[in-house]
Amino acid sequence: MNIDSIQNGIVIDHITAGQAMKLYELLGLGELDCSVALIRNASSVKTGKKDIIKIDADIPVNLDVIGYVDPGATVNIIKDGKLVEKKTLALPQTLTNVIHCKNPRCITSVEQELPHVFRLTNPKEKIYRCIYCETKAEE
Ligand SMILES: [Zn+2]
Repeated sequence: MNIDSIQNGIVIDHITAGQAMKLYELLGLGELDCSVALIRNASSVKTGKKDIIKIDADIPVNLDVIGYVDPGATVNIIKDGKLVEKKTLALPQTLTNVIHCKNPRCITSVEQELPHVFRLTNPKEKIYRCIYCETKAEE
């Protein structure tokens, strides 16, 4: 894959340097068949350094996951080699089955079929809590 010219796909740009790997894992990009390029510590005019992820396929990405990991990132949708859409992100109010509650006494560890749902309780400090037991999500 020529990483500079994606024909149809998604470019996640302006990722805070060091966050691309976490995003890669939470988005499950390792399970995709298409080419995925992860660029770390690219130079950025705005922040000095940034990470970039390029996905060479038109797949649905969970914007909540990206917003959770890095609300400052931008998501560019490329079609026929042209930028057709630029999505800006925000911290999602709730996260479903993105992160898991670590509290062994939480009902989600007993009731396996329950979705793991976290709610944003403090946007300023980016604190998410389990809706069942109030346990704080770990970064
Ligand atoms: Zn819990």
